[in-house]
Amino acid sequence: MSGSLTIVGLGPGDVDRTTPIVAQVLREATDLVGYATYLNRVPLGEHDQHRHASDNRFELDRARHALQLASEGRNVVVVSGGDPGVFAMAAAVFEAVATGEPRWRTLPIRVEPGVTAMLAAAAEVGAPLGGDFCAISLSDNLKSWTTITRRLEAAARGDFVIALYNPASKSRPHQLGEAFALLRQWKAPGTVVVFVHAAGSKDAAVHVTTLEDADSHVADMRTLVLVGAASTRVLSREGTTPWVYTPRSEEVAGCARS
Ligand code: SAH
Repeated sequence: MSGSLTIVGLGPGDVDRTTPIVAQVLREATDLVGYATYLNRVPLGEHDQHRHASDNRFELDRARHALQLASEGRNVVVVSGGDPGVFAMAAAVFEAVATGEPRWRTLPIRVEPGVTAMLAAAAEVGAPLGGDFCAISLSDNLKSWTTITRRLEAAARGDFVIALYNPASKSRPHQLGEAFALLRQWKAPGTVVVFVHAAGSKDAAVHVTTLEDADSHVADMRTLVLVGAASTRVLSREGTTPWVYTPRSEEVAGCARS
């Protein structure tokens, strides 16, 4: 009996944000592997499924466990939030394959994408990613804070819109404040900053401010922070949150072309 391993992303929030192909793969799985928070978002399948919930911190162990189950003939689905390739399980699976048993390389392994938090957050507020952008995770669990600050500075100097994943957690309360302090050295005080909590879900909440006024305490583990480029604009609306967009054209944005 030959097994399989599919690494899927559930999308950002509500179940109707999961793509139909991911929903189908989830229904057909014999085994679901992932962090309990994500497994709990998966509707119960038509037949018995084994759910292997695990701690979020041990990605490689979880990946090896999934590969082992697949090599025993199970149809295994590894579940991530958002997209599985963005700061999530897909890379851990390939790392486990690279360093694991040779027979794991012959398994049918597939990645099914999902809507990542950055895209869901952008859609909540308009079109802030209309120009060039980049994504940086502020978590220093797997890389050093020196690497993070070096990349933040490069992104600021390059005038990218910056999407900050993992802006805060209970064990890392200070990093977003430090990131804002660093970005203030390179970007104008009036640069647009957007906090989006629970994007793509019914609990979605948007806060639009400036780099000067941005308060890092607004962010929690389910917040995506967008720091605008010089050209990012706010379009205010009476009595509701403004739209935020980054013009696609440098001319509209008022930037000189060289
Ligand atoms: N694979 C996920 C990201 C995992 S990193 C994806 O593609 O979206 C976890 C971080 O993603 C969180 O700390 C938060 O910054 C962000 N995030 C995940 N879901 C979110 C949501 N619905 N709204 C806002 N941010 C979210």
